[in-house]
Amino acid sequence: MRARAAVERGVDPVGQSTADGAEDRVAEDRVAEVMDLLRARGGRASGARRVILEAMATGPAHRTAEELAEQIHAEHPAVHQATVYRTLERFEELGVVYHSHLGHGPAQWHLGENHHVHLTCDRCGAVIDADQADFEEVAAALRDRYGFSLDIRHFAITGTCAGCADGDGRDPW
Ligand SMILES: [Zn+2]
Ligand SMILES: [Zn+2]
Ligand SMILES: [Zn+2]
Repeated sequence: MRARAAVERGVDPVGQSTADGAEDRVAEDRVAEVMDLLRARGGRASGARRVILEAMATGPAHRTAEELAEQIHAEHPAVHQATVYRTLERFEELGVVYHSHLGHGPAQWHLGENHHVHLTCDRCGAVIDADQADFEEVAAALRDRYGFSLDIRHFAITGTCAGCADGDGRDPW
């Protein structure tokens, strides 16, 4: 199963998979589902593409393209880093993966169509996965007033998490 903790501290190290048998099956189902979607949208379902989707389905929820490429190339030397980068971009065009920017660093890649919105804490670096539906009113207001279509998942929303807000009460500045 893909890690979907309510609050994640920083970025998980690569390969910290705790998958047991049940979680392996969930990951397999998820890969099969995305492979079906890929084929339905006219994408090729090659072995290399399956390997990339499997890595995304089993590892930590948030990883950069570089982390994914390194892990995949280490486990499958025939799949080169450049192939991983190119494939991620193609997958995103087909709408089966997406990337988000959690902060100043490189983009983090996600498997699937169910976009979540990242709330990141400026003080401790916590990342909270919020439901896109929470932003429907804002999206509607921006559409009505400015004719603007909001893409709420591309960049994280920054602020202060609950723990830091009622922590030591010290002003961060
Ligand atoms: Zn995320
Ligand atoms: Zn971007
Ligand atoms: Zn915090």
